[in-house]
Amino acid sequence: MQIMKPHVALLASPGMGHVIPVLELAKRLTNHHNLHVTVFVVSSDQNTSVEQLSQLVINSPNEKLLHDVVLLRSDPDMSCLVDPDASIVTKILVMMRVCLPSLRSNISSMKFRPTALIVDLFGTEAMAVADEFEMLKYVFITTNAWYVATSIYTPTVEENVLDDHTNRKLPLKIPGCMPVRFEDTIEPFLYRNDPVFKWYLSLGMDMTKADGVLVNTWEDLESKSLEALRDTKMLGHIAKAPVYPIGPLARPVGPPPVLGNDDVLDWLDKQPAESVIYVSFGSGGTLSSKQMIELGWGLEMSQQRFIWVVRPPSDSDASGSYLTAEKGPAGFSDYLPDGFVDRTHNVGLIVPMWAPQAQILGHPSVGGFLSHSGWNSTLESIMNGVPMIVWPLYAEQKMNAAMLTEEFGVAVRSKEWPSSEMIVERDEIEMMVRRIMVDNEGGEMRYRVKQLKISALKASSQGGSSYNSLSRLAIECESSLQCLKVKAQG
Ligand code: UDP
Repeated sequence: MQIMKPHVALLASPGMGHVIPVLELAKRLTNHHNLHVTVFVVSSDQNTSVEQLSQLVINSPNEKLLHDVVLLRSDPDMSCLVDPDASIVTKILVMMRVCLPSLRSNISSMKFRPTALIVDLFGTEAMAVADEFEMLKYVFITTNAWYVATSIYTPTVEENVLDDHTNRKLPLKIPGCMPVRFEDTIEPFLYRNDPVFKWYLSLGMDMTKADGVLVNTWEDLESKSLEALRDTKMLGHIAKAPVYPIGPLARPVGPPPVLGNDDVLDWLDKQPAESVIYVSFGSGGTLSSKQMIELGWGLEMSQQRFIWVVRPPSDSDASGSYLTAEKGPAGFSDYLPDGFVDRTHNVGLIVPMWAPQAQILGHPSVGGFLSHSGWNSTLESIMNGVPMIVWPLYAEQKMNAAMLTEEFGVAVRSKEWPSSEMIVERDEIEMMVRRIMVDNEGGEMRYRVKQLKISALKASSQGGSSYNSLSRLAIECESSLQCLKVKAQG
């Protein structure tokens, strides 16, 4: 007799920064908690295939493929639905909405219907679909608990508190958590008249209506924010939904994925231990043309070995490559300093557009990471014991970067955050690279980041806090399945 496992559906919004952790979560639920999962991935890219996505999370040739990945394709021509100049968040939200009927009909036609739906931060509108089918509904926040606390708190505060933060540039004080300084604030606060701010308010409210909020963090890393979210005298009375720290969900090192490039790893094999700094701005991060030149000079002047994932500059949008980063190679010499490639060819490797990041960070030759502080990149760096230079560009990256430098002491930063108005100059870049790659300070950070790695491994291993959080989720899904069975029997 076949034993029915609880079935869980996950919904990933477009962009590798969402798809990768959702697939990792699916893998955990399948491999560690014996659930059956179906992952719905919203994509506007007609070239994306299920095989490509599955490859992103495969770490050994024997590993089970995620056979239940379903692509929900949004119309490739979105121009009739959304202004081509709209923000990336607006575009993603429209894509998610367009795919809702398809999600509904997929779920409705399933013989063995899922008992729970897990959506990521852009998918909370799909919680209505979960309600229709009487499923449990969870929100998976692919970033940290401090962000969750900020998002849940914001819709509850008076206008004047928001004005103090966004207009008078005062810190946003969140009960029980680190205040958010204006210079580190998240993007929606900068555009309060934009639809993105409305979405952000609804995200905070939707989270409280879920059966649980899963967060890609772990107890020891963010005990203070997690405690505030549970304490009824701080945020607990508004947080309402239980918060499950389930992280770190970061890709472990394995063979290079299909999108990657073996030459990079061959090159790394020839370099001394911890001698290479890896430079990458995530799946969407884009520098201005002037900043690219300064970064090139700074790397060259530091005289350190480097791998730099280079994509064409944009003078108007720091997230310019977000929905296009996984697409093919591009030329790069036009926007690097004159003669840079020739002068650095002995010490540096340039990778156009996309690199096998999980493998690079896991390589013993890598000793530092100049990162845009996207949360997945941050976790991948921690899980490989690599200290960082933080270079936040958009979304909640400045908060992440502040936490890494000030709270955990595992990263260095520029005096001011880079922006379209604020170019970080070559001397400062040279100094930051030398601080983590050469100076004692870098060694101390490397030690601290390795301690974080140990605490992360403990949390995720059997019996650890994050492992137990997912076990609780699995038990809830199992109970829900049993209830449905009883109901069906009349
Ligand atoms: N990534 C990669 N190769 C690249 C750039 C990014 O594999 O060249 C992966 C990276 O390892 C991470 C994800 O894409 O898992 C980016 O997520 P993150 O949260 O760091 O940033 P986002 O792209 O969402 O801003």
